Amino acid sequence: MRGSSRPKRGCARRCARSATAAARGAAEEAEADDTHYPGTYLAGGYNRLATEVAGRVIENEDLVNLPNWLPLTFRPEGGDWLNLLAVVLSYRQELDLKQGVLKRAMRLRDRTGRETTLESRRLVHMGAPHLAAIEWTLTPENWSGRVEVLSALDGRVINAGVPRYRQLNGKHLVPLASREIGEDGVLLLAETSQSHIRIAEAARTQVFQDGEGLAVERRFVTEEGYVAHALSFPVAEGTPVTIEKVVALHTSTDRAISSPALAAEETLREAGRFGTLLEDHARAWSHLWRRCDLTLEGRHRTQMILRLHVFHLLQTVSPHSVDLDVGVPARGLHGEAYRGHIFWDELFIFPFLNLRIPEITRALLRYRHRRLPAARRLAREAGYCGAMYPWQSGSDGREETQVLHLNPKSGRWLPDNTHLQRHVNAAIAYNVWRHYEATGDAEFLSVYGAEMLVEIARFWASIASFNAERGRYEIRGVMGPDEFHDRYPWAEKPGLDNNAYTNVMAVWVLLRALDARMLLDSERRVELDERLGLGADEVAGWDEISRKMFVPFHDGVISQFEGYERLEEFDWEDYRAKYGDIHRLDRLLEAEGDTVNRYKASKQADALMLFYLFSAEELGDLFARLGYPFEGELIPRTVDYYLRRTSNGSTLSGIVHSWVLARSDRARSWTQLKAALESDIADVQGGTTPEGIHLGAMAGTVDLVQRGQTGLEIRDDMLRLNPCLPEELRGLRFRIRHRGHWLDIDIGCERLTISAPDGWDGPDRIVIRDESYGFHAGERLEVPCHLEDGGWRPAPRAGDKNGGAEGG
Ligand code: BGC
Repeated sequence: MRGSSRPKRGCARRCARSATAAARGAAEEAEADDTHYPGTYLAGGYNRLATEVAGRVIENEDLVNLPNWLPLTFRPEGGDWLNLLAVVLSYRQELDLKQGVLKRAMRLRDRTGRETTLESRRLVHMGAPHLAAIEWTLTPENWSGRVEVLSALDGRVINAGVPRYRQLNGKHLVPLASREIGEDGVLLLAETSQSHIRIAEAARTQVFQDGEGLAVERRFVTEEGYVAHALSFPVAEGTPVTIEKVVALHTSTDRAISSPALAAEETLREAGRFGTLLEDHARAWSHLWRRCDLTLEGRHRTQMILRLHVFHLLQTVSPHSVDLDVGVPARGLHGEAYRGHIFWDELFIFPFLNLRIPEITRALLRYRHRRLPAARRLAREAGYCGAMYPWQSGSDGREETQVLHLNPKSGRWLPDNTHLQRHVNAAIAYNVWRHYEATGDAEFLSVYGAEMLVEIARFWASIASFNAERGRYEIRGVMGPDEFHDRYPWAEKPGLDNNAYTNVMAVWVLLRALDARMLLDSERRVELDERLGLGADEVAGWDEISRKMFVPFHDGVISQFEGYERLEEFDWEDYRAKYGDIHRLDRLLEAEGDTVNRYKASKQADALMLFYLFSAEELGDLFARLGYPFEGELIPRTVDYYLRRTSNGSTLSGIVHSWVLARSDRARSWTQLKAALESDIADVQGGTTPEGIHLGAMAGTVDLVQRGQTGLEIRDDMLRLNPCLPEELRGLRFRIRHRGHWLDIDIGCERLTISAPDGWDGPDRIVIRDESYGFHAGERLEVPCHLEDGGWRPAPRAGDKNGGAEGG
């Protein structure tokens, strides 16, 4: 990321991270304002607060904005403190994705004409997860005299990053203590008010000239929740001085510590200088890039954005997350929208991780497994069996979806029914199964996965009811992924019947639960059955439901939900002309006194999710089992139908649309992908990016290239590729980890090459566009190909040098 102008509000979202916490890219000298919003968030660092709103007391759990460790500012003696709104002669800000360093360079002039150059580098350590550091190099260009520097830790911050939430109580931190440590350090201790997470930050600020420590005057400054060192030292014209602020952050959630304060002091004492920290940090990043990079031929901007997306994903989860009890928040650890909650967005995030660092997915799934008791409780309270995971999850796995939400267009607080999105349970089961498929990790399945699958299957079996007239099972009173529809316009009660996506997913989950049981060795199976009280009748019931679930259709397409055809067509052109941006039609219509529930207008892909998650073959099998016709034209017809009726009010939608078009309309698919790529970099939703990145869309775009456009899938235990690169891409190189081995995949215009540099004991055949090729350890499989109108094709060939094509 390069820019030569002053930072804009969007800059605040570029974060640097440690393993367990991440910090937004706000300027060090800035306080929270309309441009900068300093934010530091701990993975899993939640706190609950109550507020009275619209005559009701509501409680919310938020990811807490931790004490700001950034504050660092300077002034030439007697001048003004650094302020980018004053005279800045030049400014450049750069995010070095490769090394994970935020860099700034600026030339400043103060009111008396003193010009100073400031270069800053900042990192949050990827190798040593509790450390962060800032390095400033100041050069007085045309003056000599004294400089004052203020370096602070500020625990007076509140959660105020999302304008819509500002009426809600945002004061989560209670200051506990502050003191000086050693000769050049300060320490701040605070605690969250309800969850009692203790946070200790320790900072050391030192000044160097020509590599030697400079003697400085140092004054200790403190007030409640705030601690600082004010430094003063002489500088000479043209001679640079370096200021280093090294910060250690520990919390009471850390393991292997005595107390956060002691740990922070100790970590800081051990920490080297900025240069050493940077070296280790850059090495840790180089290891991550080796696993996670994708190289594209021909599209520089696309390449850059994809790397930015991988970078932000790794800000939120990294190998350091493996040992933590955390989920992956929909908006990363980057901002306060959705309060750091965990939704179904994992469905879009895990596929990339499964094929790169599956240990992370495993850890994130364990977050869900630990919350099985809470999910069982939720199911019980709602009158169901098994486990019903909440739509929004936070610290302990209870339902965290807000009960009221504010429509900023009308100023009204409205009931929020989105908790009815029971499909989150299908997403969790899907993630368990796909993780198992990608890794072959039987131990995971046996210890955690099968239990989750069985309990979720039980939930689906109990929420499904038999309609004797139809001779089919139904799921009533739920919401699909499309959040524009939470009820029928003619009904009093929220909830819709037979959402096609939900019903088909429920069937799929029941089948996978049956499979998972059978994959366990007989002893584990008996243990699981006994522990969960699972009998033969119940299992037979799942089989029956999986054959008799109802799926609605109308006008030759899959209906989003039963009765969808009774809704009115929406006048898209009229509203586009009236409002321009109609992503959030729900808000616009509510503000007009109307409701989007009346119309055939969706916020995001819903029925089309089925074509995103499953290949045509898999869906064909499911529909055949259910006794529904699944003719060739059903997919394109259904895709076309909903594409014309969807506003893409969620950034997840473009991913799905691009994916489902990848094979039928490459040009349109590429347009959708390009739009999805712009989600955060261009803040396409007009202001939601500063509230946190859209991690599902970020990871989803990378996965779209990695799997969508390469047709990479694991089916019938075989790795399959079916490349369909858009015209604009002339080649693609990446690595995946499959069943414990790395595979290098290189798709070019003339050949596709696959090699396994470190051995291979996976299946000995790989299927490339319906032809099966032999593939063995140490081999390099090269398939000549050519690009033509319909996409990538293997060149016709006489024989299979790796063992004969099998076709089909
Ligand atoms: C979308 C959901 C998504 C959530 C968090 C909402 O706008 O409609 O599908 O899970 O954002 O990203």
